[in-house]
Amino acid sequence: MSGLNSGIGLWRFLKRISVFLLLSYFLILPSWSKTTQADLSKIVSYLNYLYGVNVNIVISPTPYKAFATGQKLVYIDPHVLETNPPEAIFGLLAHEWAHEALGHIPQQFYMYFVNGTNLAEENLWFQEKELEADYYAGRALAIAGIDPKYYIDLIKRYNREADFVHPYFRTHPSTPERIRAVLKGYYSVK
Ligand SMILES: [Zn+2]
Repeated sequence: MSGLNSGIGLWRFLKRISVFLLLSYFLILPSWSKTTQADLSKIVSYLNYLYGVNVNIVISPTPYKAFATGQKLVYIDPHVLETNPPEAIFGLLAHEWAHEALGHIPQQFYMYFVNGTNLAEENLWFQEKELEADYYAGRALAIAGIDPKYYIDLIKRYNREADFVHPYFRTHPSTPERIRAVLKGYYSVK
């Protein structure tokens, strides 16, 4: 009988332990992967200092996750901030800051004007600019002393769709191309 009792006791103990572990997992999880308003302010100041620009950030729902406007304004989706650590957001915004600092958006309008409807050529041009922005993001990460793995992880999740589209029909390069560009920028500093 005593063997049976201790068996039930152990079972209860294990059950309590697993409930406790599960609860702590869900309580701790958001703090692992969230970027706060304070984190965001620090990132924005650092990037403005690094790129020598004065770009502002707007938190607003957007299907593009984050994008540069070419008007010293970058948009970021609130869900992206809720679900990514500051290290990944730093890389993402360093990419958008590069678009602003390098004047990619005004160049894009010039591209439309010159090329008219040549979609393939436009898309290949876009991809070149995306890789340039990723190269600069890699550099910024190295200068800030941030491991590029967080931004690379974000690229792997957010860039997935581009991998299944023909290069002529996509604006963003493939995931391996983007990771190579980030690391090339990163190791150009390190
Ligand atoms: Zn971009």
